[in-house]
Amino acid sequence: MIRPLILVSNDDGISSEGIRVLEEAVLPLGDVYVVAPDQERSAASHALTIHKPLRISQRDSRHFALNGTPTDCINFALYVILPRKPDLIVSGINHGSNLADDVTYSGTVSAAFEGSILGIPSIAFSLQMPEEQEKQAHFETALLHARQISEMYLSSPLDSSVLVSVNIPDRSPGEIRGVRVTHLGKRLINETNIIRKEDPRGRPYYWIGMGPKDYEPDESSDLHAIDQGFVSVTPLHLDLTHYPSLSRLRELERIPTPFADKAEPG
Ligand code: MN
Repeated sequence: MIRPLILVSNDDGISSEGIRVLEEAVLPLGDVYVVAPDQERSAASHALTIHKPLRISQRDSRHFALNGTPTDCINFALYVILPRKPDLIVSGINHGSNLADDVTYSGTVSAAFEGSILGIPSIAFSLQMPEEQEKQAHFETALLHARQISEMYLSSPLDSSVLVSVNIPDRSPGEIRGVRVTHLGKRLINETNIIRKEDPRGRPYYWIGMGPKDYEPDESSDLHAIDQGFVSVTPLHLDLTHYPSLSRLRELERIPTPFADKAEPG
């Protein structure tokens, strides 16, 4: 029997702790390749590099660093590096959770989005970070859940147009209360967290700070699950169409378009 081919990527870079842990998590499940950015590309979102040349730096037979974004990495893995189409793409384990609106900024989730666009079952894993800088995050907890969920998903994946975003609370394995299947929650944004400081020459500079902690109360949201000590599993898809608004916007189709009678189809 052919072992499944598993592609590991991330947005924190090939040298990050999270990608090392994710590789270890999926190693028993198949033949594993790592293709990841050569440096941190967090909040790279779904960017594709089109204005500079890209280079692959091969570390050994299964590890490749690319001077591009997570989305570039998935494309290079599929079309340049891997011997065949992977059976599963896993992205992460991100240093920091990707909840609610975070998923639109996240390079970790975008790598999984790209996998899904290219027709491969894909999962993004993110680990909540401790509030105190000096504390170690519970990567051992993330490893356990990443392995379990990846194994289950390899044997029964969803349609590849759907990807799965998994968030793990920063707790020891014995303190996890279970798994909750969730939808994206909503943070309460009260003020834009842009911090203004002055450089040594008295000129202002700005730094985008952390997002708000408060969120809309909703027991089935990802934010609530993590807060309560559950692993959160959210199915996502890239069809951003808001279907309920289609019929209301159809009024636009009835506004006369100048010269429409003379315009050719195609
Ligand atoms: Mn990151």
